[in-house]
Amino acid sequence: MSTAGRKEMQGIAVSPGIIIGKARVVDRSRVKIMYQYLIGEDQVSREVERFRQAVDAAEEQMVALKDRIAESVKEGGVILDSHLMILHDSMLSDSTVKRILNERINAEWALKKSEEEIRRIFDRIDDEYISGRIHDVENVAERILRNLSGQEHNGLGEINDRVIIVAHELSPADTSELNTGKVMGFVTDAGGRTSHTAIIAQALEIPAVVGLESITDAVEDRDLLIVDGNTGRVIINPDDDAIIQYQEKQLQYEKYRADIARESRLPAETLDGRPVVLRGNIEFLEEVAAVREYGGEGVGLYRTEFQYLGAKERPSEEDLFEDYREVTELAAPYPVYIRTLDLGGDKFATSVECSPETNPALGLRGIRLCLREPDMFRAQLRAILRASAYGEIRIMYPMISGVQEVLDSQAHLDEVKNDLDRKGEAYDPDVKVGIIVEVPSAVAVAELLARHVDFFSLGTNDLIQYSLAIDRVNETVAHMYQPFHPAILRMIRQVVDAARAADIGVTMCGEMAGDPLCIPILLGMGFNELSVNARGIPFAKKMIRSVTMAQAETMYEAAMHMDTATEVRAYVQEQLKHLIPDLDGGTVNIEQ
Ligand code: PEP
Ligand code: MG
Repeated sequence: MSTAGRKEMQGIAVSPGIIIGKARVVDRSRVKIMYQYLIGEDQVSREVERFRQAVDAAEEQMVALKDRIAESVKEGGVILDSHLMILHDSMLSDSTVKRILNERINAEWALKKSEEEIRRIFDRIDDEYISGRIHDVENVAERILRNLSGQEHNGLGEINDRVIIVAHELSPADTSELNTGKVMGFVTDAGGRTSHTAIIAQALEIPAVVGLESITDAVEDRDLLIVDGNTGRVIINPDDDAIIQYQEKQLQYEKYRADIARESRLPAETLDGRPVVLRGNIEFLEEVAAVREYGGEGVGLYRTEFQYLGAKERPSEEDLFEDYREVTELAAPYPVYIRTLDLGGDKFATSVECSPETNPALGLRGIRLCLREPDMFRAQLRAILRASAYGEIRIMYPMISGVQEVLDSQAHLDEVKNDLDRKGEAYDPDVKVGIIVEVPSAVAVAELLARHVDFFSLGTNDLIQYSLAIDRVNETVAHMYQPFHPAILRMIRQVVDAARAADIGVTMCGEMAGDPLCIPILLGMGFNELSVNARGIPFAKKMIRSVTMAQAETMYEAAMHMDTATEVRAYVQEQLKHLIPDLDGGTVNIEQ
């Protein structure tokens, strides 16, 4: 146990629950601190030796890793073989040694220079696949750098103790790798409220606080931590009083959850009897059970990226079909809205080659990537259509910025349908197709888009990111994520109006739909269908069951006349305070 004293930090609560446990500090960030210094003549041979030892250690680690995974995953072995070749390639190893000898610079600096030179050579290669192999070189160089700096190479999947993970940042793929039976929760320096890392934490039902900025500096391995995933408070090395206080809060919260869950079987309707369809957002097939248990009427958003994120190879059409069929059968008689692949942004799969981008959120993401990779897109569309023979499926395209992308996507869908017709394979010919409205330009042309699709689903996580120009994974601007911003409320209303005028469906699947404070405004605006993360269903239902339509409409009208998000939030909080239980001033999704 560290000797460090008690310390409290405030971050962004992204996945509810209270945990008390030991910290495990992992470094998933790249080795960022890299000292560059000149060395004296007498230090040269020691520096070369230090480099050689780091290379030998890298070899040992890779061979050990290969032995461990080779039987189960053949491709993993092949990748490691290529990494071993890179490790011993003269362009990397010999040239680094030469630099240490000739330029008299430290090993880290020399290695970085060699890596840069290889990158320049790769950049000139006009073959996307080969130039993309620079990632393997980076991976190997990073391993050597870690060995030089004495940092451990941590495999998150191998953590098997009851610990709280403390990291600079975790990617969605890292998060889905966590052994949820063991890992109690996690806290990170980076991240925002609607980052996909946060969304996965909710899906896995592990408490999480992100955006703590410097928690990795403040915590040492095995420090005792209290993590409050409801309020975002983290206490490092708490005293006995704090432990007792939080154990009490833990019990209180569990009781509150149990009460809410009990009520989740009741219908989702307002006090005056207006029914609202509440569905669940899922990332994994296994979550359908939770959606049902919490009283959701089907799946309003299936994020299909996670089958790609965890795997070394792209899933086959058959794998996808089996998964979608099962989700559809489990959700029946309710529908499943399957979103086509939305890779890019903050989600990268090793099996889908993407060049590094300066602004991934504005890069080759979602439908843009699918239209660039038609084989991958069509494999998914075929799998979805085939699964539509087993229940009600609705297809949603992500990141649509205008009508042309809908037309291009529909052309692929039509071709896939023709192909299935030719082969006599069954599918639902009337499968409904919609888009996620999450790019501001789609709002501007909502009226045009409505002529081409069967429904809109508001993706407020990205709509807020792109409209308010705040990176959803950047903790320094996380406080500016404001669903009540007058611009956002107006944009949502514009989409609802366009859908109504064209007589097509409109729903919302962004996190805003599950924020109890936002729900009355959304009802007042005319939404009668919402999709929220599975665990949020009971909380959303409780709010729906606590207001009348007249109250909701009044609140909506009042909010539309206010000038700032702060004003709207204060007003809504005041109106609803009697409905929100006092759990340290907030409950799930209430804190901003
Ligand atoms: C959204 O952007 O609101 C959305 C639902 O999609 P995701 O969070 O997966 O980007
Ligand atoms: Mg989105």
